[in-house]
Amino acid sequence: MRINKFLYFGDFITIPAALAFFVYSAFAASGLAAALPYFAGLFGGLVVWTLAEYWIHRIAYHHWPVLSDLHDRHHEAPKELIGIPSFLSSGIVITLGYGPFFAFWPRFADGFVSGALIGYAVYMIAHHATHHWRIEPGQLLYAARVRHMAHHYHDEANFGIITGFWDWVFGTTGRRRRRDHFAGA
Ligand SMILES: [Zn+2]
Ligand SMILES: [Zn+2]
Repeated sequence: MRINKFLYFGDFITIPAALAFFVYSAFAASGLAAALPYFAGLFGGLVVWTLAEYWIHRIAYHHWPVLSDLHDRHHEAPKELIGIPSFLSSGIVITLGYGPFFAFWPRFADGFVSGALIGYAVYMIAHHATHHWRIEPGQLLYAARVRHMAHHYHDEANFGIITGFWDWVFGTTGRRRRRDHFAGA
């Protein structure tokens, strides 16, 4: 679905607000004692996000009904603002990032969902940047841009946006040699 800018960029309101809420939730409840479980959770949430991002892209965006139609559209028209409304996707990240842990380890849950939200935000910014920003060799997102442009030419490889690590782990790393020729690395 082609969506308007408010829905496409709406996460820039919901994610900072949610992060402020979870930081407050952790440290207002437990003070400095929250720091260890919170930051352990934050790290875990970030790492798990990168893995989730890989599989969401590889399976859901490329094979599930509705989502794969939307994603095909993105492959054909990479600069169009296509996606599901951001409030829906950040709501899913919050539910899945917080729900499994909060009942028995609430400070870890505050951190984990924060890490997942930061990962999700970085993913969205990085993906948007690969298509819309001029990124030169040596700049921070250059590797992500090269990796993702190759994915747009060959959609069996390079599903990771933030990192190529999981592509390496699961054997889907690919490199574009020429426009019409693709070889696994
Ligand atoms: Zn793309
Ligand atoms: Zn894709």
